[in-house]
Formats: sequence, C-alpha cells, structure tokens
Amino acid sequence: MTGKRTGNKYHAETSLPVQRSFINGDYLPSSSGQTFETRHPGNGRVICEIEEAGRKEVDAAVQAASKAFISWSRTPATERGDILRRAATLLRERNQELAELETLDTGKAIAETSAVDIITGAAVIEYFAGVAQSIHGQHIDLPPEAFAMVRREPLGVCAGIGAWNYPMQIAMWKSGPALACGNTMVFKPAEQTPLTALKLAEIYTEAGLPPGVFNVVQGAAATGSALVGHPDVAKVTLTGSVETGKIVMAEAARGLKKVTLELGGKSPIVVFNDAELENALNAALVGNFYSSGQVCSNGTRVFVEAGIHDEFVKELGRRTKAIRVGDPFDPETQLGPLVSKEHYEKVLRYLADARKSGARHICGGEPFSEGNLANGYYVTPAVFSDCRDDMTFVCDEVFGPLMSVLSFTSENEVIERANQTPFGLSGAVFTRDFSRAHRVANLMQAGIVWINDYNITPPEVPFGGYKQSGLGRENGLQAIEHYTQVKTIYANLGDVPKTY
Ligand code: NAD
Repeated sequence: MTGKRTGNKYHAETSLPVQRSFINGDYLPSSSGQTFETRHPGNGRVICEIEEAGRKEVDAAVQAASKAFISWSRTPATERGDILRRAATLLRERNQELAELETLDTGKAIAETSAVDIITGAAVIEYFAGVAQSIHGQHIDLPPEAFAMVRREPLGVCAGIGAWNYPMQIAMWKSGPALACGNTMVFKPAEQTPLTALKLAEIYTEAGLPPGVFNVVQGAAATGSALVGHPDVAKVTLTGSVETGKIVMAEAARGLKKVTLELGGKSPIVVFNDAELENALNAALVGNFYSSGQVCSNGTRVFVEAGIHDEFVKELGRRTKAIRVGDPFDPETQLGPLVSKEHYEKVLRYLADARKSGARHICGGEPFSEGNLANGYYVTPAVFSDCRDDMTFVCDEVFGPLMSVLSFTSENEVIERANQTPFGLSGAVFTRDFSRAHRVANLMQAGIVWINDYNITPPEVPFGGYKQSGLGRENGLQAIEHYTQVKTIYANLGDVPKTY
C-alpha cells in the first residue's frame, strides 16, 4: 500500500479507537454492549469497532432532537443560515482530511473523494444556508373582511438513513435542507461506512449548531428500523436500495410519516450517430466507472446507434483497459476497490453471469490482486457489448464497474427500450440535433435527464427518481417542500353570523 504518506492524517493502515453514536452534542456509549466493525476495502483490515445504537440510544437521540426542535425551529433563519455557512467553510477547510477518512472507510479513490464527496456536500449545505431566509408562506386576500395566511413550517424530527457509496455527501444532502427549514435530524449512516457522519456532527457543533439538532446513531437495519418506527419521528428520508425503500416506506406508513426515498437505478445513456463521440465516450466511462461503478445514477445501459456502434465499442474497450486500478490512497488511482467483501462477491457473480450470457466480452471483470492489494476487494472495469435487454446483468442494478452496450436503429425504438425498466432515476442523450435531444429527454421516464453530459448534480437542481427509483426530491427548491408543511391561518376581521 502506498497510502502511508507523510502529511496524511488517515492512511490504509490507520486504526481508530471504538466509535460511538453522537447524541445531544456528544459521544454516547451504547448500553447494548453490541459492536460491529468497519474495514478498509483496500486491504480488508479492520479500522475500528463501532458501538451499535439499540432502542435506548435511538430513543435518546430522538428525544434530544425533539427537545432541540423547540428552539431550533424558532431560531431566526439568518442565524440558521450563518451556522450552516460556517459548517460549509469548515468542511472545505478540512476537505483533505475528511476525504482521506472517506477513502479509508469506502475505498473510493482519493482523487475522487478529495475533489467531489465533501465539496459537493458543502455546496449543498451552503445553498440551503442561503435559501433559509427565503422560505416563506403566502397571503390570500378574502374580501370584504377576511384573509388567510399560509405558513410554511418545519416538520419536526427527521430521520436520515444513508447508503455507503457517498456516506458523508448523503449526510450533508439530507441535513443541509432539513436544518435550514428548522427541523432537527437523527442520521444513521450505513453500517459499512459509519465514520464520516460523526465528523459532520463534530463540524456542525464547532460551527455553533446547538446540541440535539443533528445526531448520529450507529447500526444496521435494526437501528434504522427502530428510528423509522419511533413515534416522535415526523419524516424519514432514506438513500438506499429499492428493497430497503419498500420496507422503510411500509414501516413509516404505520405512523403515516412523510417519506423521501432516493433509491437505485439502471439508467440509460443513448448515443445517436451524430453525437460528439469524445463527449459521449467520456460520459459513458465516467457514468459507469466513477466510484468503481457504485453510483446510483450511473448510466449502466449504454444504447449506441448502429452507425457508430463498432467504433464506439472499440474506443470504449481501449479507454477502459487504460483505467488505473489500485490503492485508493494513491493519487494516481482511478478505480479503487468495491466497498465490502460481500458486495465484491455479488459483483463477481454478476460478472460471471455476464460472461455466460452470450454478450460479447470486450474487457475487464477480473479480480485484481496485485502485490499488497491481495486482501482488497478489487475488480477491473468491464465492458460487454451485443447485450440484450432481457439479460440479468442488463436488467439488475449491479452497482459495480460493469457496462452493458446495446445497439439500436431508431429513435422510437430506443426510447421504448430505455424506458423498459422498473427504475427511473436518470438518463442521458447524446446528439447534436437540438430537437431530437429534447424529444428524447421529454420521453425518458427518469427524474433527471442530461443532454450531452452525465452525472452532473448542482445543488440548485432537484434530484430524485421516477418509478421505483424513489419518491420526493433532494436539492433545489423542491427539497424545501419535502422538509416543510403548510399551515393555513384564516383571519376574520368582521363578525361571525348568528346561525342559530
Ligand atoms: P441498503 O438499502 O442496503 O441500505 C441503505 C441504508 O438503509 C443503510 O443505512 C441500512 O443500514 C439501512 N437499512 C437497511 N434495512 C433497513 C430497515 N429495515 N429499516 C431502516 N433502515 C434500513 O443500500 P446500500 O447497499 O447501503 O446502498 C446501495 C443502494 O443505494 C443502491 O441501490 C443505490 O442505487 C442506492 N443509492 C441511491 C442513491 C440516490 O440518490 N438515489 C444514492 C446512493 C445510493
């Protein structure tokens, strides 16, 4: 491992003391005695033990958040915004250190975590810090002697539950708007990647966030389930798989809680004959292999029009073979390991299935275990062409570096095939034809469609899924609607008529 460099706070051999839940402004020991471990995916080493939050700790966190809600919801929006802005500044100042910790926990290449994960989260917190002061209601005149006000009010305690692929960014994407609107939050990171959410809690505290406004509970499904089922939780926002989304929504329904779900995808990238090839290639590669393919909005079904298909596939193969797989702490590495042994084995099963499917194997898909990477969860990026729509690895969300290329011959055909999936998170169209770009974008069943680009998610832009890819939206002004509720206050200026 080349990870141990002078100046790095965290590296591949880092061991940390036992980590805990962060409740009411401080670390709280767990009474259950249960612990779990988190490992560095680059070498399989245990980084540390984490004390699991049982029902008692979940209850303590929700109670702290309920109590904090009373004053936080009445704190002037300018003050809420100031605190969030300070947090965004601290996050940017500590970008490198936080990126190293994220790389340690997730195995994602440091070139990515230091350029994207923390910075894009801080940008969202800063965006909602600015929006806080603009959250307002409505006045409705009801002449001759009445009017109504529509107040936009926070919901209360929001439960945030995160996935392991962008652990800190997800915690920021959820807490930024929730807190800006005056809610408090109890966040549960994924059990595979529990470390950076705690740093976010520390940074919020340092920025001046009162105790109890942002809490972190540690654990897996049981902890998440206790949180979702807690009677004092008003809203649940989950980022995770479709299966978990269904369970969480059903559990939340028992208390008729509001729900936002950011779930999986199997998104299409459609490349027409007239596309600017270099742009389409760059997008297909980044939209499949960034974060070792562990990105929900990845464009894992690449539809290429017959006229450019062979050239496109040849170039994809050449460029994919050149991707540098390796130690995620090496700044030159472009593709690090998968997040866990379990996930690595799942991706290998899909790769084996792809090889037997009849699709043409262009490159990659082998375990990668050179030298001291032997105990890590590495796999080389794979491209398969001549895929059919009904092949298992073309239908399922693999969440690994596996690109399927499919050929098409007409616009109508490709729209129909692109939409033939229960998912609907995102999609892209590459063409120089303005009208066709918009026709296709309008007809794609997806929450976000890029024209001549891929996986760009600025804070101002709503992000979320159609169909089974989710419910509700994160980012943009739409997010405010999911973290507030409206109250109508009707004011009578005259007399109440005598009816009886
Ligand atoms: P997962 O569904 O296994 O777990 C997600 C979270 O839910 C974890 O924190 C887990 O502990 C928790 N959880 C599991 N069962 C629960 C239950 N019964 N009650 C409450 N919480 C429970 O997902 P994952 O494997 O961590 O992440 C990968 C998935 O996340 C992929 O499907 C990916 O597409 C999706 N994802 C979506 C987005 C998006 O914005 N749409 C972003 C990132 C990841």
